[in-house]
Amino acid sequence: MSSSKLLSLLASKDRDFLLSPTGTRPLVRQVNISYLEGKTIGIYFSANWYQPCRNFTPLLANAYEQLKDRGPGFEVVFVSCDEDAPAFDEHRALMPWLAIPFSGLETKRSLNTRFGIEDIPSLIILQPAYGRQDFTILNGVDLIYRHGVQAYPFSKLRAEELLHEETEKRENQTLERLLSNHDTDYILSHTTSKQVPVASLIGKTIGLYFSAQWCIPGAKFTPKLASIYRKINEEVTTNSSHDFEIVYLSSDHDQSAFDSYFNTMPWMAMSYGHPNIKSLAKYFDVEGIPSLVILGPDGKTVTKRGRSLINLYQEKAYPFTEARIEVLKRQVDEESMNLPESERHSGHCHELLLVSEGTGGGPFICCDCDEQGFGWAYQCIECGYEVHPKCVRSVEP
Ligand SMILES: [Zn+2]
Ligand SMILES: [Zn+2]
Repeated sequence: MSSSKLLSLLASKDRDFLLSPTGTRPLVRQVNISYLEGKTIGIYFSANWYQPCRNFTPLLANAYEQLKDRGPGFEVVFVSCDEDAPAFDEHRALMPWLAIPFSGLETKRSLNTRFGIEDIPSLIILQPAYGRQDFTILNGVDLIYRHGVQAYPFSKLRAEELLHEETEKRENQTLERLLSNHDTDYILSHTTSKQVPVASLIGKTIGLYFSAQWCIPGAKFTPKLASIYRKINEEVTTNSSHDFEIVYLSSDHDQSAFDSYFNTMPWMAMSYGHPNIKSLAKYFDVEGIPSLVILGPDGKTVTKRGRSLINLYQEKAYPFTEARIEVLKRQVDEESMNLPESERHSGHCHELLLVSEGTGGGPFICCDCDEQGFGWAYQCIECGYEVHPKCVRSVEP
């Protein structure tokens, strides 16, 4: 498709312009579509009522500020999925780029169809190549989340390069590479607040614990993890195998919150505000906290699902390997066969039925302990009330 033909998708019979960003000085309300000729263009589908869009817009704005003048220029065009004109105006005020007018329904509809938009936020990249605008439907949203401005120019080639780099990085992953940087190679030991070399942790199973004092689910999970951590290390000592350490990676708001929270933890921590914390969260795709990533004695990732494995199997989950989890799953399946088909729970007025993965059980949040569960559960089909089998038993006299 030629450049002008592609750009004509942004226009309509009686409109050949886009709206300028609201903060432009001097105030220019419209920009002719031909202004986009030759630039790399991101067509951004977003809605203000949808949290994932609200999370992504500031990241895109940040990348945009750094990239707009690079190479042939980078421009973004907002395609609104907002409910009404005031919502559109409010949403657009957060964006330093161009927009299709809210009234351009037909254009918005045809862009949605043309690029097969099924999910928002979506960022479709159109690229100038040898005089034509070659578009690649890449998940620009994912690229920016993972790589920020590194992802420029958002071509298939660049995406492949980044993927390759990432694979290489993961293959060469070691504990020291993850936890050290050019000016620090230590972490904090809680008991003495002294510095412990990262090298002293090599050969252990390590849990990277992303959490914060303000995090509500963390308030429940942290003490639970602490008691399980102690149990695992008691057992490990008697078995004289390698041991288990946890490193707290804090998202606390300030040093004093960090200090008081770290005080409740029996393990180690990366110092408050250490720049590696953010890059590790990105590297491990940590989307919410608390989150527990498990590294094996060789420094490679064992699982990013440490939190749910702890919830499901407690100290038995150690050392969190696939082989270990398979054994536990089989045990749970066997034990669950002998569970009663129905139960009652003090928190719910209806009878609860036993379900498994095959019979309507899937990932759920337990209404008793508020933690994740998977597979076997007692469920009220009518209300969706669901608890772990262990939690339904815990309320029996
Ligand atoms: Zn539960
Ligand atoms: Zn019910």
